[in-house]
Amino acid sequence: MQLLDGKVVSQATKDELRLNVSQLRSAGKKIPHLAAVLVGNNGASETYVGSKVKTCEEIGFKSTLIRLPEDISENKLLQVIEELNLDQDVDGILVQLPLPKHISDEKVIEAIDASKDVDGFHPISIGKLVQGIPSFIPATPYGIMLMLEHYKIDTKGKHAVVVGRSNIVGRPMSILLSANTNPGNCTVTLTHSHTHNLKEICLSADIIVAAIGKPNFITADMVKDGAVVIDVGITRVEDTTKTRGYSIKGDVDFEQVAPKCSFITPVPGGVGPMTIAALMKNTYNACTLKHD
Ligand code: NDP
Repeated sequence: MQLLDGKVVSQATKDELRLNVSQLRSAGKKIPHLAAVLVGNNGASETYVGSKVKTCEEIGFKSTLIRLPEDISENKLLQVIEELNLDQDVDGILVQLPLPKHISDEKVIEAIDASKDVDGFHPISIGKLVQGIPSFIPATPYGIMLMLEHYKIDTKGKHAVVVGRSNIVGRPMSILLSANTNPGNCTVTLTHSHTHNLKEICLSADIIVAAIGKPNFITADMVKDGAVVIDVGITRVEDTTKTRGYSIKGDVDFEQVAPKCSFITPVPGGVGPMTIAALMKNTYNACTLKHD
């Protein structure tokens, strides 16, 4: 069994971007600028946005964090997005999800200028992804593809089972794995909470991507020997032995499943760091596509 180490691969991606940024700077060209919008005080969202802003600093990108109150109206938030759309200095806009219940995620995502949609959630980006046209790829599936590429994992003709069909992880993951690319060219089964015989389907998988949000959901009896297992799940579970009061759990029962795998991602330190690295790649591309 080999670990797919997201920390190592994301560091390599960030090092490459840092070098690219220093070349842009030396050439007097525009430096990528990411604007992150955080609504309310959700602890997990604060952590994610904080990591994204910190990574921008590490690489040499410009970043702006816009904090808005939990009770901001949808219209006011849409106005903020419009200002960022019009701001020539801003290359990428991300709105940290989930948003408060009184605000429509769809409306806010659609309001983002598609040329600044570095999260890759805009219908234009998703439409291009489905058609195989270069576009911003949602950061988590993009990060997983970068990791598969880095470890030269043979995906061609393999049966990939994606568990979870969200618009931000499972569904785009299934599209990427089924595309005529390398990595890609898998035969994909996309599963969800209404899927019958999930255990049997998973047992036939060469590659499993678990994006469910239920700790330890994928157990050893669902995984065949030699499978590649990618664990996207991040759930905070109460843990009184930790000073912060919780630990992070993936969707895969790592201890039991890992010995059966050819490759597996740990949680934390697997998909999470790759998501941020992929977001940075999208932001770099948003800038250079417009200004280079
Ligand atoms: P969602 O809640 O949007 O989607 C969960 C999916 O899991 C749904 O499609 C749901 O099916 C499916 N599901 C739920 N129960 C079952 C079941 N018993 N059998 C099969 N499928 C089931 O979650 P996200 O996709 O946003 O996130 C998934 C996990 O990944 C979360 O833990 C999240 O925190 C994490 N995550 C991690 C990231 C990272 O960077 N590592 C980035 C983004 C998310 P249905 O559609 O039928 O309801």
